[in-house]
Amino acid sequence: MTNITVIGSGTMGNGIAHTFAQFGFKVNLVDINEAALQKAIATITKNLDRQVQKGSITEDVKNITLKNITTLTDLAKGAANADLVVEAASENIDVKLKIFKQLDEICQPNTILASNTSSISITQIAAVTKRADKVIGMHFMNPVPVMKLIEVIRGYSTSDEVCDTIMEMSKKLNKVPVEVNDYPGFVANKILMPMINEAIITLYEGVAGVEEIDTVMKLGMAHPMGPLQLADFIGLDVCLNILRVLQDGFGNPKYAPCPLLVNMVTAGHLGVKSGKGFYDYSGGGKELVPADRFKKKVAVEA
Ligand code: NAD
Repeated sequence: MTNITVIGSGTMGNGIAHTFAQFGFKVNLVDINEAALQKAIATITKNLDRQVQKGSITEDVKNITLKNITTLTDLAKGAANADLVVEAASENIDVKLKIFKQLDEICQPNTILASNTSSISITQIAAVTKRADKVIGMHFMNPVPVMKLIEVIRGYSTSDEVCDTIMEMSKKLNKVPVEVNDYPGFVANKILMPMINEAIITLYEGVAGVEEIDTVMKLGMAHPMGPLQLADFIGLDVCLNILRVLQDGFGNPKYAPCPLLVNMVTAGHLGVKSGKGFYDYSGGGKELVPADRFKKKVAVEA
């Protein structure tokens, strides 16, 4: 495999393109938005500069990595010669189904089609193609050039051969692939999202404040970041969507999102990206939000 096409050049797409290109693959990075492509190249350049400063790569590797990436807005041109396509477009089922239908027509018969989706069924995506055996999940973690894990998701029809190829390919990127089956949330989010939800419920019930909950999990469980700060970093809207996928997919009320999370998303408090979530980022730092904002209001008898 030499030619990789990455679709979507946002947070994940630029990291995925960077990683493949750094390990010698030729990457076509495709986005519908030219400005997003320019921003992606600027981000990749900045991240490569940081790697050079830290001494983890040489200036030569940086230059070769950048040379290995071609940006395009035309999907047909960008994917025609791909050996592997990794789709990292927006997390929207209609967008993904449309892209995979197009890819099935554009790509060579042997091309493997992977999705970086966090929560959409690989089996459902595969079902819109005529090559369900060659559709697979490659769930990279953010930030992609740094994080070692790739959750490799085997759809209901994914072949052993395709699964083995992607496991081997992931190792060539110096990552650790883990094979999992295609059920809601896969492994990472099936465990992470209920933990984040439980942290929010703990806050909502007034058991402890934001800083206390995050400190318990950081110092007590050796998590690098507390669950509420992590939720802000992921995006509260993303957390809510994944909890809904778990709740619908398993039909189990234990995944029901905390009403506080629902309220915060409705109010537009989405975490780091909107400037406010469990912490306040509007001043450029990370400040605590007044605690009464989060507590369940309990009626007091007169
Ligand atoms: P993002 O919003 O940062 O970027 C999405 C990009 O896709 C945008 O640049 C947009 O212009 C482009 N796009 C939309 N429709 C397109 C189309 N039809 N063709 C080509 N490009 C198109 O999103 P993101 O955070 O990078 O997430 C991308 C995928 O990765 C999602 O499926 C998400 O669930 C998954 N994911 C995200 C994270 C994370 O931490 N952000 C982690 C793991 C997986």
